[in-house]
Formats: sequence, structure tokens, C-alpha cells
Amino acid sequence: MADARSIFVTGLKNAHAMENQALSIMKPQVSRIENYPEVADMLERHIRETEGQIDRLETILSGLSESPSTMKDMALSMGGSMAALGHTMAPDEIVKNSFANFAFENYEIAAYKSLMTVAELGGFPEAMSGLKANLEEEESMARWIENNLRSLTMKFASLKEAGASAKV
Ligand code: MG
Ligand code: FE
Repeated sequence: MADARSIFVTGLKNAHAMENQALSIMKPQVSRIENYPEVADMLERHIRETEGQIDRLETILSGLSESPSTMKDMALSMGGSMAALGHTMAPDEIVKNSFANFAFENYEIAAYKSLMTVAELGGFPEAMSGLKANLEEEESMARWIENNLRSLTMKFASLKEAGASAKV
């Protein structure tokens, strides 16, 4: 693979910024939830996992004598905050957030699968276990969102019927 090192390092920095974006999306969401404790618990858990994912990426980067990109981290965090804000006016905020989070987790899955391909073909086997750990956490979060979409939708509908529609 030509120029594998620079492709890999760029991908790692992008993943680091993506994880900061993930935090900037999830943290405002969780702070607004009142009626969906099961969603709040899962978001809290994935926020902690995401902090661990950032640590793993930093370990891989420092093993290559590289560090995260402050510019990329800041740009994507701002984008994430704006995205999180975008749904707060919607009466169906909780379900829209679920769609957005499912999309984001699948974006992360694709990013880690691509990074693992570069690690494999570019000769960075030492990075593989950290990337795989991150991938598995994204896959389980995506699966949870998918598996809970039906019950979330039904709960949203029954709360709306009971007149609690303004509260996420
Ligand atoms: Mg993540
Ligand atoms: Fe994630």
C-alpha cells in the first residue's frame, strides 16, 4: 500500500475528531432526557466508552510519534454541537436523535473498518486490537439503537397521547 503511514495517521486523526464529535452530540442529548431513562443510561455508558476510544486512538497515535489534530477535533466538535441543537426544537426530538445516532454509529463502524484495512495492509498490526475494541463498541451501540427503535417509538407515541410530548 503506497504511502500507508500518512493514510493511516490521517485516518487516526479523523477518527479522533469523530469521537470528539460523538461526545459533542451525545452529551447535550443526555442532559435533556427526562422521560427515557433507558436511553439516558445507554448514552451515559457510550459516552464513557467513547472516552476510552479516544484514549485508544491517542495510544496508537503516540506509538507512531504523532498526536491528534486540534483543528480537526475543534471543527468536528462544533459540528456535533450544532447537529445536537438541530433537533431540540422538534416535538419528536427523542426519535429523531435515535435516527441520527444510528447513522452516526454506522459512520463510526465504517471508519474503523477502513482504518483496520489500512492497519492490516499497511503493516501496523500493533494498532489492530485497539481499533477492533473501538469497532465492537460502535457495533454494539448501533445494535442497541436498532433493537430499541420499536419500543422507543411506541413509548414516544404513548407519552404523546398522555400529553407529555414536550419532554424528551
Ligand atoms: Mg465512537
Ligand atoms: Fe459510537
